Amino acid sequence: LLGAPSKAPSPPIALSYELFPPRSEAASRTLWTTIRELEATDPDYVSVTYGASGSNHDTALDLVERLQLETTLRPLAHLTCVGGTPSELTAVVDDLLDRGVRGILALRGDAPRHGALPQDALRHAQDLVALIRAAEGRRSAQFAAGKVAIGVAAYPAKHPESPSEAHDVEVLLAKQRAGADFAITQVFFHAEQYSSLVRRARRAGVTIPIIPGIMPLTSLRRIEKLSVLSGVAADPALVDRLRGAAGDADAAHRIGVEASVHLAEAALDAGAPGLHLYTFNEHAASLEVLGRLDLPRPVRPLLAARHRAAV
Ligand code: FAD
Repeated sequence: LLGAPSKAPSPPIALSYELFPPRSEAASRTLWTTIRELEATDPDYVSVTYGASGSNHDTALDLVERLQLETTLRPLAHLTCVGGTPSELTAVVDDLLDRGVRGILALRGDAPRHGALPQDALRHAQDLVALIRAAEGRRSAQFAAGKVAIGVAAYPAKHPESPSEAHDVEVLLAKQRAGADFAITQVFFHAEQYSSLVRRARRAGVTIPIIPGIMPLTSLRRIEKLSVLSGVAADPALVDRLRGAAGDADAAHRIGVEASVHLAEAALDAGAPGLHLYTFNEHAASLEVLGRLDLPRPVRPLLAARHRAAV
């Protein structure tokens, strides 16, 4: 016993998943199989995406509501503010709070390429954070025992419109000052990008948890599409490996899962307080990644405590 290496138990982490509203009956059936599989892992919350300019407002709210009513899962509703006026966005926030939602991921969304925005439209995610806090403040009697949990986006690789990584950190600090409780990162391919962001953010005064977003990229098509949508340059080595597996979906799946496991392990080793898995509404790859990680249990309820207090 004396000579045995003593390894401190790893601290529990916050686990969460991203889902998107289904676009067809068939997609809805697949999604609900996924939801039941993910529910069994008892995550802290599941997040539900929202189209920029509210393009899928109704299907997003339907999914959030069904998660509340039909599952044990806690939804984190994404909300985008680009082009929306304060009164329009306040109405959406009030609607979410009326439906019992206690977690919102406050985002700008990608600006429309054409057409002028209304004069008083919100321009930045930090403005939406402030608007949500104001809506919460107007319900101080209802929320006396707690508050709404607000998440925001963070960028391990520079945001495509940002002048510098230093500016990204300033923006994250502004979101924290406006009232954000935690951040989830955009996709990244190298753990060093995540740990560098956390280091720079802490030096600048950001104290909120920064959760790495991990996306199992299990096909060449998926990684190429991601780069176009997010503006994050794909890792050429991973692209080459997926290209080498062309025509063999199982091999590509294994490559994508393997890469996510390594990235998640490295982020946890760097002190990540949780993992947010982008699922593409499929459970297999995310659950394989989790199975390979051997995570400490119980999962730490980063948001759950706050939600329970506020309901
Ligand atoms: P912001 O924080 O407003 O930043 C946008 C740009 O403005 C940045 O370049 C920033 O540097 C700059 N900026 C911000 N504040 C200032 C300021 N005060 N002065 C000058 N410049 C400033 N998109 C969707 O449409 N729907 C989703 O559901 C969705 N979910 C996402 C989930 C996660 C975890 C992440 C990381 C992204 C998600 N996105 C989603 C994408 C997101 O909308 C885009 O990345 C968008 O381009 C920026 O959003 P943001 O909230 O970071 O914006």
